[in-house]
Amino acid sequence: MKNPYVTCTVDSDVAVITMNKPPINGLGAELRSGIVEALDEAVANTAVKAIVLTGTARAFSGGADVTEFGTPKASREPNLRVVIAALDDSPKPIVAAIAGQCLGGGLELALGAHFRVALADAQLGLPEVKLGLLPGAGGTQRLPRLIGLEAALNIIVYGSPVAAAKFEGTPLIDEVVAAGGDLLAAATAFARKVVAESRPLKRARDLKVREPAADALLQFARNMVAAGAKNFPAPLACVEAIANSVGKPFDEGLRLEREGFMTLMNTPESRALRHVFAAERAAAKLPDVPADTPLRNIAKVGVIGAGTMGGGITMNFLNAGIPVVLLEAKQEALDKGLGTIRKNYENSMKKGKLTPAQVEQRMALVTPTLNYDAFRDADLVIEAVFESMDVKETVFRTLDEVCKPGAILASNTSYLNLDKIATFTQRPQDVIGLHFFSPANVMRLLEIVRGAKTAPDVLATSMALAKKIKKIAVVSGVCDGFIGNRMLARYGAAAGGLINAGALPQQIDGALQKYGMAMGPFRMGDLAGRDSGWATRKRKAAEAGVEMKPLVADRLCEAGRFGQKTGAGWYRYEAGKRDPIPDPVTETLITQYRSENGITARKVSDAEVVERCIYALVNEGARILEEGIAARASDLDIVYLNGYGYPLHRGGPMLYADIVGLPNVVRALRRFAAEPGADPSWQPAPLLVRLAEEGRSFN
Ligand code: NAD
Repeated sequence: MKNPYVTCTVDSDVAVITMNKPPINGLGAELRSGIVEALDEAVANTAVKAIVLTGTARAFSGGADVTEFGTPKASREPNLRVVIAALDDSPKPIVAAIAGQCLGGGLELALGAHFRVALADAQLGLPEVKLGLLPGAGGTQRLPRLIGLEAALNIIVYGSPVAAAKFEGTPLIDEVVAAGGDLLAAATAFARKVVAESRPLKRARDLKVREPAADALLQFARNMVAAGAKNFPAPLACVEAIANSVGKPFDEGLRLEREGFMTLMNTPESRALRHVFAAERAAAKLPDVPADTPLRNIAKVGVIGAGTMGGGITMNFLNAGIPVVLLEAKQEALDKGLGTIRKNYENSMKKGKLTPAQVEQRMALVTPTLNYDAFRDADLVIEAVFESMDVKETVFRTLDEVCKPGAILASNTSYLNLDKIATFTQRPQDVIGLHFFSPANVMRLLEIVRGAKTAPDVLATSMALAKKIKKIAVVSGVCDGFIGNRMLARYGAAAGGLINAGALPQQIDGALQKYGMAMGPFRMGDLAGRDSGWATRKRKAAEAGVEMKPLVADRLCEAGRFGQKTGAGWYRYEAGKRDPIPDPVTETLITQYRSENGITARKVSDAEVVERCIYALVNEGARILEEGIAARASDLDIVYLNGYGYPLHRGGPMLYADIVGLPNVVRALRRFAAEPGADPSWQPAPLLVRLAEEGRSFN
């Protein structure tokens, strides 16, 4: 046979069909047709008494071929269900020999074989639920018949892979081979044993799910997922599909499984999860930085400033086993910063996440210092000092003097112009922004800010490093606030506008939280501290040479209400507590502001709150794309999902706009822009208008 990915060799009475499509035997069109072709050949060969189906050491099969998603190849016949039925129907025994990944459609394929032999450490799983789907090629019907109802529920509803060794003694795995053992030899020997003993073919479809307490178990599962996955329909649909394996004939169960799969495929939640899956992979690629760009070695890191951010940034590297030199201006600040790091680790220890030895190992990797000389052999230095251009200037001039050639010099600035910071050195090509999010040891997002002169290998090294410290990196160009905070400014302004118009902070926060935001903008601002926004507004007014017209937010700051840290901001807080309590003082300030500005309060609906705030994000996102600050719309979604508490089931603001329909977004923005005294930023971005007119979308 001639298939690029499948070979069929006959070893006297056993045919071995091998799938070999790097990297993980994704079940694309050619691989599928190759399996059927090889099977037909083996069945037709009278010398062959049994068949072994296997993959590579890395993967039996990782499932569907993601590169074929959305292309005609994905639906080319034979589809996966047909391939599995062909295995199932084979008159000769088929043994799946499983090593490495055996996931999703890959596991469903293996379930179509009559027997399975696996390496102990092979990873078996049905992760479809993580993409908002259910296993659509028999997994929900065959797996419970092979491992029982409870185990199947756990695997299908949560989607996490399990080592094959865990299934020893169940009809799922007939023989476990020690990790590193000769899988093919064991599978071939097993196939011969089946023939010699004339064992009947064990078809999963013919088995019965044995579970006396099935109803109670299924009800328990329904209750669990209703409580735990309220924004996602897939987990419950998985439970219902599995329930059919108990109550319905196999073919009926398969038909309903397929129906459930197609229904889920069309839900916005599955669309969001599949979008995020693809977006995370896309974010790692930069059109003008080739994947084979040589990387700089990062064996030692320097961090300047042991405050809120510097401490958290340091922990990321300690966690990854990379030594850090931590510099402060004063001993007192250094001691305090180190104390906080230790306290964080000890809290993890109390929760059982770290052993005492691990805490000490991590603390031993940090070298505190007051002296820049300690940076002489650092490969990367990240500054997290005060957000002031003057302070950053002193820091970068000093770094330029002491750091070795080739060291990467990074700033954690939130807003300041990175290109200007780069001019404080003689090596702007080595300067980059590494914008962590607070708390930096927890938040997954890292905005990598690319200056006009940042070298490609500095960029590539930073992206590789992000992966090493388990961050998801998105590259941003230089602009005020970069991607995330620039969009946030418009979102905050939209929320502020609603306050002026007639809403209260608690209504706006409530409406956005109902939409799914982890926290509304006023609660979030109170948590982060209001003073830095106030300082930024003052700085911008000064830069523009205009007198600042105070907003309600500024009045709060003038009254010393900086948020949780001062016990009051938009809300008030009881000592030691974080629950926001609506405050009449705030309401008075708002009412005063309205009367000073001749505004009559009007009723604002929750739908309007969501529309204005989310479309403000979308509109600024479109400007960011148009200016080339971000490479693709899905990068903005990744920023919002991982740095700003945007709800996963919405897939990010840009995908949300696509789902709502860009013409609808444009129409709403035009309506806002046409209101008397409207801020000009409500004008829809030209890119948004163009895409809407051309019937296109962001993604
Ligand atoms: P912070 O005030 O908590 O910490 C700053 C630390 O830097 C202090 O401990 C201070 O003693 C030290 N420092 C100041 N000048 C120094 C100098 N010349 N040399 C050595 N140490 C010096 O501030 P932060 O919130 O950690 O912010 C630091 C930077 O990170 C700022 O640029 C800020 O914009 C940015 N950032 C902050 C957040 C946040 O949520 N807090 C998020 C992202 C980025």
